[in-house]
Amino acid sequence: MKELILIKNGEIALKGLNRTTFEDVLLKNIRRKLADLGKFRCYKAQSTMYIEPQEDGIDLDEAVDRVRKVFGIAALTRACIVEKDFEDIKAKTVEYLKETLSEASTFKVEAKRSDKTFPMNTPQICTELGGYLLEQFPGLTVDVHNPQVTVMVEIRDFAAYIHAGQIEGAGGMPVSTSGRAMLLVSGGIDSPVAGYMMAKRGMEVLAVHFVSPPYTSERAKLKVITLCEKMSAYCGRMQLFIVPFTKMQEAIRDNCPEELFTVIMRRMMMKIAEKLAQRSDCAALITGESLAQVASQTVQAIACTDVACQMPVLRPLIGMDKEEIIRIARKIDTFETSILPYEDCCTVFTPKHPRTRPKLAMVEEAEAAFDFAPMLEEAVEGAERLRIDPQ
Ligand code: ATP
Ligand code: MG
Repeated sequence: MKELILIKNGEIALKGLNRTTFEDVLLKNIRRKLADLGKFRCYKAQSTMYIEPQEDGIDLDEAVDRVRKVFGIAALTRACIVEKDFEDIKAKTVEYLKETLSEASTFKVEAKRSDKTFPMNTPQICTELGGYLLEQFPGLTVDVHNPQVTVMVEIRDFAAYIHAGQIEGAGGMPVSTSGRAMLLVSGGIDSPVAGYMMAKRGMEVLAVHFVSPPYTSERAKLKVITLCEKMSAYCGRMQLFIVPFTKMQEAIRDNCPEELFTVIMRRMMMKIAEKLAQRSDCAALITGESLAQVASQTVQAIACTDVACQMPVLRPLIGMDKEEIIRIARKIDTFETSILPYEDCCTVFTPKHPRTRPKLAMVEEAEAAFDFAPMLEEAVEGAERLRIDPQ
């Protein structure tokens, strides 16, 4: 039996004239995701996309698993390809859904017929196929309202397809239809979720991570690489910039008031991230900040960090509770890595009593006590660039 994956687009379907562009990007993203699994033919017809294996022995479970993580897809279905002939449909339904139907006690049949030349109408298909399945599986009864299994028969242009229901897709917009942005990624729980959320809105996500050896360890850096690998299952291939931040942190510690250490450090991070973002044609920065979560995330502190750069700063988690963020982190499989206890540079030199309501004038005055400009340049120049592929 030949199988394929059928895809129902999400929000793309609402796009007017640009729809084809969005669909083409989505097809490209799907092809790239499946490239190392074998040969597939991926194409669109009407509002459906078809992913057909072109070789024997392709792992379709793995293909479904990968496609489920591609943004821009509302739902997908693994289906069996059959001839547009009712005898073939009957025989293949029994064969293809044997296991599912033997285990179920209730079912119904639904049919869609976009090829109007097919000699039976949809009620006829449902009644006759339903009757045949009842004969073949004596344990089954029909329940049209709340069936355990819904057998779908779709009669389309090139063939007919049989399946037993849809799988929810990742939703959102295809990655890289909404421009590029630079994510400030730490080893924590929040920032990988923030990157996932903006990729879901169609952004291509690049990442920057600040390290402060010897205060932060190699393991902390490897943890961030692992987090990016996990994110790239959704975001696609990523670039990760590792920025040496030790000198900067020491300079802030030695030259600025302790209570302003965190906010000044965060401002320097934004400035460096912005420079790297500009070089990579990014239109925005992304952070994992959530209002009131910690001292540096009061609205006054955020106001001070926000003006440190010109680019828009996207904060998709700003109104979310930790519990909601953790739920997503578990779903995208970053949570277990994020909670590994390696230190982040944010926890180096943290003041005992950080100022929770810093005033911009005060912060700017404190920064003026030292010439940070050469150090900003040095950090940008010293950035190491890594390429991250999905694992
Ligand atoms: P996270 O869970 O993402 O670490 P957090 O709640 O611990 O967030 P902070 O440590 O205050 O919050 O960091 C706020 C944001 O600053 C992070 O979400 C991230 O975007 C950015 N950030 C923090 N540390 C780093 C770092 N070492 N490198 C890059 N960005 C960082
Ligand atoms: Mg953190």
